Amino acid sequence: NKQVILKDYVSGFPKESDMYVNTSGTIKLKVPEGSNAVLVKNLYLSCDPYMRPRMKQPIPGGETYIESFKPGSPISGHGVAKVLDSGHPNFKKGDLIWGMTGWEEYSLITATQTLFKIQHTDVPLSYYTGLLGMAGVTAYAGFYEICSPKKGEHVFISAASGAVGQLVGQFAKLLGCHVVGSAGSKEKVDLLKNKFGFDDAFNYKEEPDLDAALKRYFPEGIDIYFENVGGKMLDAVLLNMRIRGRIAVCGMISQYNLDKPEGVQNLMTLIWKRVRMEGFLVFDYFHLYPKFLELVLPYIKEGKITYVEDIAEGLENAPAALIGLFTGRNVGKQLVVVARE
Ligand code: NDP
Repeated sequence: NKQVILKDYVSGFPKESDMYVNTSGTIKLKVPEGSNAVLVKNLYLSCDPYMRPRMKQPIPGGETYIESFKPGSPISGHGVAKVLDSGHPNFKKGDLIWGMTGWEEYSLITATQTLFKIQHTDVPLSYYTGLLGMAGVTAYAGFYEICSPKKGEHVFISAASGAVGQLVGQFAKLLGCHVVGSAGSKEKVDLLKNKFGFDDAFNYKEEPDLDAALKRYFPEGIDIYFENVGGKMLDAVLLNMRIRGRIAVCGMISQYNLDKPEGVQNLMTLIWKRVRMEGFLVFDYFHLYPKFLELVLPYIKEGKITYVEDIAEGLENAPAALIGLFTGRNVGKQLVVVARE
């Protein structure tokens, strides 16, 4: 059972060498007698920014919403898999599922409450690592539930070409909002404007003054900011929010590799502009999954929503794919193919 193992806890910027691929692992391809676990063959693995905080050494008594990985053990994340054997009444051999699984060829999953049975197979299966998986529900809940969006509002999205951002932008356009995104390369900016239908987009790495850039793209201010990066971008956005604006705090990837977070200077604007800035975790919104599928599947089939994936082949390339999220190497949703069937 080939596995991606975390060598040791990581501080600072993660490196490929913080993980290694072990080819000598073994696993019994049968669920132990009396257990209600599910044994799966992993097909597609999702690379997600939240996996970086899971590489940190846990602080005793510190608050966290998710457990750290264990050095010497395979890492885990969201993925798509095929059931080979099951002791659980809801899953049977041959079922396709998505949910929390190991970064390895085969996994024995005991936390079956995280698994969703895949009912619709007339779309690419890899979509369940992103568009129809965790990133999709994040975009859906974050935009519709947290942002309270209205037609015609001015929406700004950072890390806009990524797994979550590309979808938030398309939801906002379908609702009739004015949408601008930021991303870290010309290729990504072109995707935002030409593939995902954003009204405008800019490369934040080429803007020496983010406040001035936002004033150029939003002369009348921002109603909704979908926050994916934090740090300097958030600070500049705060200066450009409109009265009673909303900020969905989805993630702050620019802070994940820093030992100490960068200070936000402009938080007081929340008060005098009566801005609602709200953090949210996708895990509280999985009950909306059927509603989300009802909305999104027809859009996909009608070609109203498109999705760009960045596909790495094989567990050997998985560590580099994961690390690439923090340099912006990925164009679109980063995933790893372990097996295609
Ligand atoms: P992406 O597919 O967008 O990949 C990450 C991207 O972040 C990179 O491609 C890069 O794009 C950008 N990035 C990396 N480092 C920096 C930096 N220092 N400053 C600015 N941008 C940077 O990831 P996802 O769409 O999967 O995730 C987006 C955000 O959503 C993350 O913050 C993640 O933690 C959060 N999230 C939150 C969830 C929740 O429940 N709240 C659930 C899922 C995701 P570029 O080239 O444009 O810089």
